[in-house]
Amino acid sequence: MRVKLLLASSNQGKLREYRSLAVGRPEIAIDLLPGFGEYPLFSEDAPTFAENAAGKAFHYSRFADEIVFADDSGLVVASLNGAPGVRSARYAGEKASDKERNAKLLAEMHGKSDGSRDAKFVCVIAAAKQGKMLAVVSDSVEGAIANEPRGANGFGYDPLFYFAPLQRTFGELNETEKNQLSHRGKAFRRLHDALTSIKTASPSRT
Ligand code: IMP
Repeated sequence: MRVKLLLASSNQGKLREYRSLAVGRPEIAIDLLPGFGEYPLFSEDAPTFAENAAGKAFHYSRFADEIVFADDSGLVVASLNGAPGVRSARYAGEKASDKERNAKLLAEMHGKSDGSRDAKFVCVIAAAKQGKMLAVVSDSVEGAIANEPRGANGFGYDPLFYFAPLQRTFGELNETEKNQLSHRGKAFRRLHDALTSIKTASPSRT
């Protein structure tokens, strides 16, 4: 049976990304939540990724019959006390570009030695149905902040996120490689497993 998952977002780029993560899983169909922008806004200003993702999924799930899922993700740098963290998208101001955010990050990292450049991408995904939480999953990928941007692929902080096992930044990975390794790819696979186990354990509840 096909399960429809509605993404609580109006972001076509995010939809494309999740659809690419679902390639090879014909049992899943992903769409944006219709009318997303017309519902009361959920403010993502909680201090943790989990609160933001769970709150968003719960909130928007009340406006649909199908399963609604939402995510929150970002870059966490230990030597910056966890920044940019939950403020990753707004790190250099509400209207700043990826380039400006990366420039700010590089400036904050100035003078930090290799040992202080550890970073991780974190992604939390939550799924809810009609106001009932079904799953909250998370995953991460460890890397380090490079000294300068490298690679034109991906988005956001990808050109600065150096992944040692491949000796490349995420900006130098193709989509298939990134999907395999990324925080979002790993969290999405966890979501799939969680939703599958709910269905298996109690089909009447989904
Ligand atoms: P949100 O999850 O849509 O709130 O986005 C969080 C922000 O974290 C994005 O705007 C990016 O700046 C950053 N981010 C999250 N995931 C990635 C990624 O896979 N690559 C690069 N930057 C990311």
